[in-house]
Amino acid sequence: NLAAYKDAKKAKHLKVFINPIGGSGKANKIFNKIAKPIFDAANCTYDITLTEHSNHAKEIANKLDLKPYDAIVSASGDGIIHEIVNGLLSRPDALETDIPIGVIPAGTGNALSICLLGNDYGNSVPHATLNIIKGVPMKIDVCSITQDEERYFAFMSLNYGILADGDISTDHLRWMKDSRFVLGTIQALLENRNYDCELAMKVVEDNIERIRQEYNNVYNSSPSSITDIQDKPRTLVNKYGTVNDSNPIKEWTKLDGDGYLFFAGKVPWVSKNNLAFPFALPSDGLLDLMIVKRDKISKTKVINILQAFNDASHINMKEVNYYKVEAFRLTPKNKENGYISIDGEKAPFKPFQVEVLPKIINIISV
Ligand code: ADP
Ligand code: MG
Repeated sequence: NLAAYKDAKKAKHLKVFINPIGGSGKANKIFNKIAKPIFDAANCTYDITLTEHSNHAKEIANKLDLKPYDAIVSASGDGIIHEIVNGLLSRPDALETDIPIGVIPAGTGNALSICLLGNDYGNSVPHATLNIIKGVPMKIDVCSITQDEERYFAFMSLNYGILADGDISTDHLRWMKDSRFVLGTIQALLENRNYDCELAMKVVEDNIERIRQEYNNVYNSSPSSITDIQDKPRTLVNKYGTVNDSNPIKEWTKLDGDGYLFFAGKVPWVSKNNLAFPFALPSDGLLDLMIVKRDKISKTKVINILQAFNDASHINMKEVNYYKVEAFRLTPKNKENGYISIDGEKAPFKPFQVEVLPKIINIISV
């Protein structure tokens, strides 16, 4: 009943980015056919940009006069959200602006929307549109990454190993939608690719029972405490420097060798039906880090682990190491070119260091 929403909420003025190649080329149609009538019924107004190239949304979010807008909306997948986050946080006035980001799931990978609306409704455009109309801003953490001399941001995941390969190596198979990730991952597994690397982690907790307990504590306390764990002023300054500093990692836990998965997440759902990080919290200032080492694990077992993401039962498997970390540095050891996937996008195949900036951006959430 669209009419019921007509007077329900203050009409928002939105800056909308639609990626015409997002969601196998359906994002524009999805926005116009499903989201637009609902926004119109709620008296929302908007300026639309159809993104013309990679990083277009980032460039605009970096320079745009934000005053006229109540929110920036992405109608695509997680890639455009990644661009908006990076554009906003690279502004000279990044800490003075706190414009919320709204998410219309019109891409192939809509993990953030699934996290906001749940596994069953995450891909529902009407639910997501109403969420933007009725929702309120929620402050969430963002990862700060340094690589070479570059510094950039991620809101979702950092990924090395077979899942990163599955994510990236099949970009030419976009027509396959979700199944391309499965195909790419199986392919990587069968090809015996090498993922030798050096990992240094600032571990906060490595006991899965204590991680579970802490998660339950947060969720059983009052709702406000979920988003108000830290009240420190927002900062964009890295606590642990950059990937080029030798000092910060001296005291960190080191892990050397080959593995199948080196996967860190700031969000619980990484795609539909895949609850990879069941204890991820939006603003605990920490990353959930999952590692599956190579030693003596059969390929069948690896597939079992990935299938278990369905109900998050992988966290109880002895082959899966699950940590809460404040920061980590990953240095690939293999010479050949491999894949590093950050927020589902291809990142340079070079060492990187990541730490969490607590409560740095706003997402619209009900
Ligand atoms: P999907 O979930 O379908 O992959 P994303 O939102 O992740 O959708 O976007 C995929 C990629 O498309 C992003 O890396 C983005 O930079 C890129 N992109 C945006 N606009 C264009 C365009 N006009 N042509 C080609 N690529 C684009
Ligand atoms: Mg994408």
